[in-house]
Order: sequence, then C-alpha cells, then structure tokens
Amino acid sequence: MPLLEVNNLRTVFHTNDGEVYAVNDLSFSLEKGETLGVVGESGSGKSQLVLSIINLLASNGRTEGSIRFQGQELVGMKPKEINRIRGDRIGMIFQDPMTCLNPYLTVERQMTEVLMLHQGLDRSTARQRSIEMLDAVHIPDAANRLKRYPHEFSGGMRQRVMIAMALLCQPDLLIADEPTTALDVTVQAQIIHLMNELQQEFGMSIIMITHDLGVIAGISDNVMVMYGGRICEYAPVFELFQNPRHPYTAGLLKSVPRLDLAGSTQLHSIPGNPPNLLHLPVGCAFADRCEKRMDICTREQPPLQEVSPDHFNACHLESKNV
Ligand code: SF4
Repeated sequence: MPLLEVNNLRTVFHTNDGEVYAVNDLSFSLEKGETLGVVGESGSGKSQLVLSIINLLASNGRTEGSIRFQGQELVGMKPKEINRIRGDRIGMIFQDPMTCLNPYLTVERQMTEVLMLHQGLDRSTARQRSIEMLDAVHIPDAANRLKRYPHEFSGGMRQRVMIAMALLCQPDLLIADEPTTALDVTVQAQIIHLMNELQQEFGMSIIMITHDLGVIAGISDNVMVMYGGRICEYAPVFELFQNPRHPYTAGLLKSVPRLDLAGSTQLHSIPGNPPNLLHLPVGCAFADRCEKRMDICTREQPPLQEVSPDHFNACHLESKNV
C-alpha cells in the first residue's frame, strides 16, 4: 500500500467572481521513502495541492475526491483528527521560517510544546529531544541556541530550526513548500544536502514543492510538473531531465541558466502568462503559450497517458491520430 494515494482531487475556492479550481482532477501516489518533486509556476496549484493534503486551505476552499494517507481517508476528516496527524505523522516546512516561527517565544518553548502536545513528553525529556534534533540539523552549540529567539538566527539557521521542528515527531511524510527560496544558493545547497541526509536517517517520504529545477534535480526520485491545476508531465527525475516530452516542461528546462553553454547571453523564457483559474480553457491550459499548438489543443483536454514506463504526459502530440 502506498504511503499516500491521491485520487481525482479537486481543490475549489468560492469567490465573488465564481468558483476557482486551483487543483483539477489530480491523481498520484507516493511510496514510503520516496521523494516527489512538484514543480510549476506561481498559480499552477502546487501549494494548494499540499495545503489540501494537510487540510489547511483558506476558509473559502474545499476539497473533493480522495486523499488516503496510510490507508486513512483525509478528505472530510474532523479537524481534531487531522490535527493529530498533522505535526505528528505529517511534518511541514514552509518557505519563510520567520513567518512560521513565533518571534515572541524562544526556540526551546516552540519545540518542546510540539513534543509535549503531540507525544505527551514531560518538559525535561522534550528539551533533551529538541537538543538532539537541533544537533541532527547541524546547529552548533544546540543546548545554548535552544534558549534563543528566532531573530537571533540567520536565514539558513532559521530554516534548519524549521526542519528540526517538522521532524520532532519523526513524521512518515515531510512536506516542504519552497523551503530554500528565500536562501542564497550556498545555503540552499546545504539545506538540500541536509534533507537528503535526514531522509536516509529517518526513512520518511518527502513532497518537495519548488519552482527551482536545480532543487528538484538535487532531491527528487520522481517529478510532477503542474500547470493550470493539473499534472502535465510526471516521470522519474533522470528521465524527465533527459527526455522532457511536454512543451511546458521542455520550456522550463530551457529557461535554466547553463554555465556549460558558452556564447549565449540571452535566457530563454516561455512567452505569455499562466491561465486564469477562474476561466480555464476548454482544451489544453498551455495552448495560448505553446509553440506546438494544433487545432485539437484548443478543443479538447489532452489526457494524461503513459508514454514509456513510469513516464506520463498530457499532450495531444502523443496521440497517434493527430
Ligand atoms: Fe501544446 Fe497542444 Fe501539447 Fe497543449 S496539447 S502542450 S497546446 S501541443
């Protein structure tokens, strides 16, 4: 049984202008110990996907379909029950630790409270466990740093504190939403290295949300490319980088700066903007921006189909009768 199984998931927001489908009929599964990279532009639905999994949508949002975690259905689960799973069996790391850590409380207070609440530990055992976890994320002099406030840490160190907090209860699934975006590239590489190391140590599965293909390459087993709230391509990481089949994925890969390609000073960009989720087109959501667009693309939604083992693509170019 997969650790996480998502079937026909829709995430819908009710707004004054109408219903917005941020995630649209999306299905995938995640095995124990697997890292899934989810990539796409802002507005592609990747953050709303993970917020749907942990039931942290805005109050005007709702989910339809099925999300099974360790065999348990999360859609429709009571808030009290999902609260127990969140933080205990599913850990979450957000983009900006400064907005997630409480600036008025010491790191010690914030970490020990998680353990006392979720695992019923007494304060002294919770303190000891917190020190061990800060050690595990390579924060030097952990016992003393524990007494500090978030603003006394650098950006990279704060992100390490967030990772330590997310791992305190040794979750089976860690969801990381753009955890390295606010960091410079050197610290970014350290955090990716750390997450790989911690995954080996704790054996958890990871869903990594990012728009950075370098991060995806550094950490993922499989990659899901999202566009307009749908999966447009899904493949093992090496296969996706070697053989991208969807024009959007190919465009994303071409937009990555390459030091090994001399002579070109112009960065490739995909023309146009992501679609308005309030008025998604009938056919392919990428059609307005696609150089390979055909007549059928504006008329029919391309189905997600397996084009080689474990490689799925949603593009009419795959259709034999086009
Ligand atoms: Fe381009 Fe058509 Fe494929 Fe969409 S379905 S990516 S418009 S070729």
